[in-house]
Amino acid sequence: MSKTPSRYTLTAALPYANGPVHIGHLAGVYVPADIYARYLRSNDKDVLFVCGSDEHGVPITIRAKKEGVTPQQIVDKYHGIIKKSFADFGISFDIYSRTSSKTHAETASEFFTVLYTKGEFVEKVAEQYYDPKAEQFLADRYIVGTCPSCGKDGAYGDQCESCGSTLNATELINPVSALSGEIPIFKKTKHWYLPLDKYEPWLKEWIVDGHKKDWKSNVYGQCKSWIDQGLQPRAVTRDLDWGVPVPLKEAEGKVLYVWFDAPIGYISASKDWAVKTGKDWEPYWKSDDTKLLHFIGKDNIVFHCIIFPSILKQHGEFILPDNVPANEFLNLEGNKISTSKNWAVWLHEYLEDFPDKQDVLRYVLTANAPETKDNDFTWKDFQARNNNELVAVLGNFVNRALVLTHKYYNGVVPERGELTREDENVLKQLFELPAKISNSIEKYRFREALGLYMDVARLGNKYLADTEPWKLIKEDAKRVDTIMYIALQITANLAILGEPFLPHTTQKLNTILSLSAQAWGNGGRADLLDSGTQLNKPELLFAKIEDTEVEQQVNKLEATKLANTDATPQKEEVAFDDFVKMDIRVGTVIAAEKMKKSKKLLKIQVDTGVDTRTILSGIAQYFKPEDIIGTQVSVLINLAPRKMMGEVSEGMILMAEDADGSLKLLSPTQAVKPGSAIS
Ligand SMILES: [Zn+2]
Repeated sequence: MSKTPSRYTLTAALPYANGPVHIGHLAGVYVPADIYARYLRSNDKDVLFVCGSDEHGVPITIRAKKEGVTPQQIVDKYHGIIKKSFADFGISFDIYSRTSSKTHAETASEFFTVLYTKGEFVEKVAEQYYDPKAEQFLADRYIVGTCPSCGKDGAYGDQCESCGSTLNATELINPVSALSGEIPIFKKTKHWYLPLDKYEPWLKEWIVDGHKKDWKSNVYGQCKSWIDQGLQPRAVTRDLDWGVPVPLKEAEGKVLYVWFDAPIGYISASKDWAVKTGKDWEPYWKSDDTKLLHFIGKDNIVFHCIIFPSILKQHGEFILPDNVPANEFLNLEGNKISTSKNWAVWLHEYLEDFPDKQDVLRYVLTANAPETKDNDFTWKDFQARNNNELVAVLGNFVNRALVLTHKYYNGVVPERGELTREDENVLKQLFELPAKISNSIEKYRFREALGLYMDVARLGNKYLADTEPWKLIKEDAKRVDTIMYIALQITANLAILGEPFLPHTTQKLNTILSLSAQAWGNGGRADLLDSGTQLNKPELLFAKIEDTEVEQQVNKLEATKLANTDATPQKEEVAFDDFVKMDIRVGTVIAAEKMKKSKKLLKIQVDTGVDTRTILSGIAQYFKPEDIIGTQVSVLINLAPRKMMGEVSEGMILMAEDADGSLKLLSPTQAVKPGSAIS
């Protein structure tokens, strides 16, 4: 689009209301979308920024069954949690709606009806698994059986979680219904398909030829590969009792497939916004001079670049997205973020541990945004960026400018005098930075934009370090007036230009500066604060994060990892008589030393109550000899003696092996008499 748009419609992927949101969501979709929305608003653009909870689909019904509640109760719970997290992090949606609303059911039905009336859908009758006892067709997730790939039980109709294979429900061996345990039968059912194959020539022209230059290469590449492989018709309906009912008499008991109704949720949300504000939603979706942008993660590219535009196009009244700046994924401490394995940093939990540090997370996630490839979030990096960048660069400059102003002028902005070459040079750089930041934001390079924003603070720090007003104040107070005047103008620029990235911080800064929120266009100016303005008392914008704080977070994750490690399967059964043959006692370590020429073995003297004996134990990597002396341990004392490296070992000290392979001693929780039997 070459002409200037009259308005912007920004959509952010609808989070699935099956769990809370985590840092991966924030980094991939919501922070970049919010930066863009705030940037546009501060440029006085007409913006509608919409989102909402995606509340249909099978996983929600399964979760409801598992918890013994209704699907509505599940989505009510998570809609509330998600909505609050977004508000807490300052994601500035104009509306956060939900797809279980009445508006949405009407809007999605209308889309289906329009396409149906135009004869767009292909009707197909196919055989599908049906549970005769529960009297319903079974979604893939509702069928369990033996995996044809690895032979393990408990595989789902769409995937085996043991070996990771993607499956078709019909491939499962001995399938049973998860609803009733019955063996499912095949039954014919009719569904409506969107003929994506028919739209291929148009999609080729629109994306492959039309968006080669302006779409991100990861997005363009994925679309092209889908189109090159050849598109298949895709069912828009399914047999389920949770969703938007298919608006046809003959389709009773069927609902719209969640992928069909979810993106229409952006339009329903816009309608809800119109009702709330008394505005007209239609220009935002139907006017050619509107720029429509979908902010999503890479798992959603096909839906937003191929399927949803096809639906919009066939409907006929709607505009198509101008761009879909999808991000790659954010990993966590080297591993893929996983909701089911609880390998995530949940936003609501983050705020419990780091209250009022929303902007720190916004900053770190932007500075490390997965814009061009998957990136890794680590707590160490989080701490380093906070301490070395937010505290040491941005916070430090602002604090010095404000503290010196209070010290020299009781917080009143001084008069500006003659400018030196040095001043002019600094002001020139200050003047040039906003356009550079704009350019990066407009190209969806938010990481780069944030780096340029920090250059404003670096410029300020360097200026103070070079001019040294704290030394000059005794000899040339007049010169210091000008230096501090300029430093304060840089501070005011930080408040304007930082708003899209760090809205909580810039609000605080505006209050300190007695400045109302300024338009982006004022960025670069050197007269934002008038001489004589009384500033408020400074407060620190950022605080150092200590090692112990991030260690706690790492430990929390490590605990998750251990909880997720599967224990080894149970061994073969043994008879009681076999068990009692083992004589296990509590003994006390009375001496220990490293075995010569061995890295692994410790030579340990144990008082077993029966006698004092030598036991060799392969624990030298985990225990220092001096640390275990005096410790009570569990000993198998009637194990046949074994000779190792020229020494005889009479028994075995029992150990627990942790998930990471480390060894722990098994000691009684209270001291007991050596020789006490363990049984
Ligand atoms: Zn398998």
